[in-house]
Amino acid sequence: MQTRIVGTRKGDDLWLIPAEGDPLPPVGTAVTGAVEDVRRTMLMRTHSGLHVLCGVVFRDFGALVTGGNMEPGEARMDFNLPEVPPDFKSRIEELVNAEVAAERSVAVRVLPRAEALALPDIIRTQSNLIPPDEQEVRIVDIVGLDVQADGGTHVASTAQIGKVQVVKVESKGRANRRVRVRLVD
Ligand SMILES: [Zn+2]
Repeated sequence: MQTRIVGTRKGDDLWLIPAEGDPLPPVGTAVTGAVEDVRRTMLMRTHSGLHVLCGVVFRDFGALVTGGNMEPGEARMDFNLPEVPPDFKSRIEELVNAEVAAERSVAVRVLPRAEALALPDIIRTQSNLIPPDEQEVRIVDIVGLDVQADGGTHVASTAQIGKVQVVKVESKGRANRRVRVRLVD
């Protein structure tokens, strides 16, 4: 018997939300869980793609991330960028895909907090989101492009991201630019 889980809810406990119509195991049944590979792989590609995006936007335009969101295969990321350079949309698309083509390794390691925070530009969001009591910090390093504190799952090489399309650049406030991307293969 298999029950698909389509969401979670946090409360006193963590609730798993089953797909409508799927069979439910009786209370007390021992169950095993498994991650849905297609969805997870797509999220990993999308997430690594966002790191490449914020890596090139930081390196070439000096802008920090103010927010973001992702679904499998599509995402948005907001940057603090008061002046939008000419051809920004096509330039970032070109830059991101050049990094994908460069097949950069994506390496994950865990460092003691002080050592991690001593790395330059490790916090790419405008506010530091690392909980104050966290003693170890996980680092995601797109080798040669972008090093960040991050808890997410990633592909092993930027080549696995595939082609990235910049769908839209919107202004959301005086200095806030929202970049929408999707994977196109
Ligand atoms: Zn991330």
